[in-house]
Amino acid sequence: MQKIEWDKLGFEFTPTKSNLRFTYKDGKWDDGELYDTYDITVSVVANAFHYGQAIFEGLKAFTTCDGRVCIFRPEANAARINSSARHLLMPEFPEDKFVEAVKRVVADNIDYVPPYGTGGSLYIRPVMFGITPQIGVSPSKEYMMIFIVTPVGAYYKGGLTPVEACISVDFDRAAPHGTGHIKAAGNYAAGMLSTKIAKEQHHCPVALFLDPATHTMVDEFGTSNFLAITKDGKYVTPDSKSVLPSITNNSLMQVAEDLGITVERRPVMRAELKDLAEVAACGTAVVITPVSRIYDGDQVYEYGDKVGATMQKIYDTLTGIQKGVVPDTHNWLVEVK
Ligand SMILES: *Cc1c(COP(=O)(O)O)cnc(C)c1O
Repeated sequence: MQKIEWDKLGFEFTPTKSNLRFTYKDGKWDDGELYDTYDITVSVVANAFHYGQAIFEGLKAFTTCDGRVCIFRPEANAARINSSARHLLMPEFPEDKFVEAVKRVVADNIDYVPPYGTGGSLYIRPVMFGITPQIGVSPSKEYMMIFIVTPVGAYYKGGLTPVEACISVDFDRAAPHGTGHIKAAGNYAAGMLSTKIAKEQHHCPVALFLDPATHTMVDEFGTSNFLAITKDGKYVTPDSKSVLPSITNNSLMQVAEDLGITVERRPVMRAELKDLAEVAACGTAVVITPVSRIYDGDQVYEYGDKVGATMQKIYDTLTGIQKGVVPDTHNWLVEVK
């Protein structure tokens, strides 16, 4: 075992034993190689720096209560990175090869997977970028795909804690995800200013983006999907072309359905924000972040300073599946042997 203080881990990067690198050349991916360094040598004229052919994924491996190490839904991330790749004219990475690569890098770093009971997990960050040196705007011919892993801690040490959010419409900026269903590095850069303004001027840790054309519908938070429970107990989440299809949201929708909750994926109006019972952000890093209130210009919508009962229940069920304490009826866990 590595000398890591598991209960002190947050979401910072901790170096591990290795990362796994693949190169795409002459129309195909190689077999990949494990590296014990974090440095690469790449041309200053690489496409990724100038024209932004750079996409990524985020997923996790957990130690279950019976001592297995399992990856949560890697096929879903494999499918999504290929959807991102198609949109940015980057090569697809075969899905079975992606799942094998994730298993291989986790197996090589098995000592860095936080033990059961710590609440931590091994975060897996696949990243693909164009490396061909070029000045003209055109797709790269060569690419790298690197699978990086780092142990991360339980986000909530003392239970789910709601945070404040504010609507970003007054920031005079479009939503950062207006380029569609692409998990692209550039989308994140585009959202950083809005989040900085949310923090500094409105003292909110997260910004909520509306549809850029009419500002009447909810899209998503800066780095996570929007979900809510209505007063009549339904799970609602926006059906919008600008929203990144979150695997956590997809899993929570299934969990909610399994628990007998009606799930509605539909446009969520800004005008109905005042009538919602519970609101949360969701994504791989945190699973669920409850939202206590949303500031919308002069108006404030309140959802309570404690996590709502329904959010708590779906959170407990999903994290229970990840830890192996709730039956994995949808075969979401892929074991690393
Ligand atoms: C990654 C991401 C999410 C969350 O997706 P998960 O698959 O649940 O981690 C939500 N919104 C954006 C913009 C993202 O990039």
